[in-house]
Amino acid sequence: MYTFQLKKTYQAFALHVSFSVADDETLVILGPSGCGKSTLLNVITGVVHLDEGSVKQDNTLLVDTKTNTHVPIHQRNIGYIQQKSNLFPHLTIFENLIYGVKNRKSRAYRDELERLLTIFQLNEDVDKRPGELSGGQQQRVSIIRALMSRPSLLLFDEPFSALDNPLRIALREQLIKIKQDLKVPIIFVTHDLEEGYDIGDRVIIMNEGHIVEEGTTSQIFNTPKQIKTAQFLGMKNIWDGRVIDYIDGVSCVDIHGIQLHVNQEIDVGKEIKLGIKSMDVLYVKKHRIESDQRLNLFHGKIMDIKRTYNGFLLAIKVNDLSDHVFMNLPDYVVRTHGIYLHDRITVCINQEKIIVFEDRNETL
Ligand code: ADP
Ligand code: MG
Repeated sequence: MYTFQLKKTYQAFALHVSFSVADDETLVILGPSGCGKSTLLNVITGVVHLDEGSVKQDNTLLVDTKTNTHVPIHQRNIGYIQQKSNLFPHLTIFENLIYGVKNRKSRAYRDELERLLTIFQLNEDVDKRPGELSGGQQQRVSIIRALMSRPSLLLFDEPFSALDNPLRIALREQLIKIKQDLKVPIIFVTHDLEEGYDIGDRVIIMNEGHIVEEGTTSQIFNTPKQIKTAQFLGMKNIWDGRVIDYIDGVSCVDIHGIQLHVNQEIDVGKEIKLGIKSMDVLYVKKHRIESDQRLNLFHGKIMDIKRTYNGFLLAIKVNDLSDHVFMNLPDYVVRTHGIYLHDRITVCINQEKIIVFEDRNETL
């Protein structure tokens, strides 16, 4: 287990975070560009000097500004993989991999290297120089090199962001496969939501040098507690509301024009915000409208239809609600049901998937 308390201030930026990562855990740090992700990793490795704070491995302090403890960088045993691989251009891949390794002649070392070269499909390329390899292959070499040093902590800084999509996904899958055997704490920094979701056991959402929220991957992605998290994850429906009733485990919330039922007890009279992902707003087929017994059914008019990479995003005007209700629909639903701009439509705002943000004052 590693525990971090990190403070670093630049003229126009302050990083101030505390968190930990367990031995068999992959912690993903997600946040917009400029929020301090790279700075965070750089102070952990020691490349950037910490203003104040500590880095602890189990009960051993590696860095502690109070007691002036600074274990030298090369003794911290950290594997660090960045966006651009930093291989020596004049050495072959093999030479790059064994560079500086003391036990490189040992049987165990050779076997392990062979195993990783096979997993990452680089056996054929060991005699080439980095310039002869693609960006993706170079990144794989960097990963092997980091793993071969038997690190006690592995850091990744947007390692796949310079690669094109299929390759990025392939490398992500390879990493997911090998990380299970590693038993090494991993901190993986990215601004790619899908990558973070796939790789992380736990996720930290960062903004402007601070931790906005931290939780298991499914908690953060499915039931974020902070509005900033929801917005960063792309939640398009966030409404102000006031609780007007509560009966049998269901609260009724007025959101200026419509009343939504929510599966949660909230004090009557309380001002809150409600959110729901556009994919959790459901289409109600025309012949089912009359018989549909669900709560939160609304009729509206389609004000906008946008193509997205996996279907359509619809903006729907419902009653007097000033904000549009956004919903995602897959291609086939739009085609089979003949859904067009300005059509009337009935939607179900799935009461199970509505998220209540009780801290109404959190700034947007
Ligand atoms: P991210 O990796 O999340 O994109 P960075 O950690 O690179 O963000 O940068 C966070 C902030 O710190 C940015 O505003 C950046 O300009 C600032 N910053 C980073 N390094 C330095 C530096 N050496 N001197 C001054 N400001 C810096
Ligand atoms: Mg960065």
